[in-house]
Amino acid sequence: MNSFEGKSVLVLGGSRGIGAAIVRRFASEGAKVLFTYLSSPDDAAALAAETRSEALCADSSDRDALIELISSLGPLDVLVVNSGILGAGDPLDIPPNEIDRLFRINIHAPYHAAVAAARTMPDGGRIIFIGSANADRMPMAGLAAYSASKASLKGMVKGLARDFGARGITINVVQPGPTDTDMNPADGPLKDIMHGFMAIKRHATGAEIAGLVAYLSGPEAGIITGAAYNIDGGFSA
Ligand code: NDP
Repeated sequence: MNSFEGKSVLVLGGSRGIGAAIVRRFASEGAKVLFTYLSSPDDAAALAAETRSEALCADSSDRDALIELISSLGPLDVLVVNSGILGAGDPLDIPPNEIDRLFRINIHAPYHAAVAAARTMPDGGRIIFIGSANADRMPMAGLAAYSASKASLKGMVKGLARDFGARGITINVVQPGPTDTDMNPADGPLKDIMHGFMAIKRHATGAEIAGLVAYLSGPEAGIITGAAYNIDGGFSA
């Protein structure tokens, strides 16, 4: 196991699901962890107490507030942008404002957070976005904006890897397939359809996704940048 003793880690969207698993993983390896939340203050407070981390209320759709928050925190060794929303539905029915909000959270926030963090991040820092296997395979209707938002992260890490590479800062996107969270419960109504697209027919756990995030954040991964990693039971194979 890597050790993140003495490292400062910020997880955007850490109160529940995959983000909470990432918070637990870094905290268990000795990092000083901060995480943001928006709608789940009770979950955030419980997780902060459990992991001795710090919870900060911050809306990832508010660009200026997000940049100001990250700038105020001082140098981060690791930034994980996990906050994301699904926004499923018929594109003919979804109000444009909802789509714009999805793009602000799923696309704009990762970009602005990465740039804000990179201003003070020490050489060798790590930036990781949580994307989705839907960037590579979208076998269901009603998720065009979501898959577009997650596909954008693949291009974003390629470009920012070039911008930050001289400082040894790596930036990658982890692309989960179906993962057991409130967003996509393992016993939800679509589970059989989703498992039908997979070689290993089960939801991942948040801890499995957090394991790849920890690897990419550790010293062995210093040569990995601008890359997208599917962790999806073969969903996109
Ligand atoms: P959940 O809905 O279970 O949790 C989402 C987390 O993001 C919560 O902690 C939530 O905080 C936070 N969040 C959402 N919107 C905002 C916002 N505007 N500002 C700050 N925090 C916010 O989702 P998952 O854990 O399932 O998903 C996490 C990431 O993984 C997302 O980016 C998602 O797209 C991606 N993903 C998930 C998959 C799955 O099958 N579960 C598959 C592929 C990708 P709060 O409740 O406090 O608002």
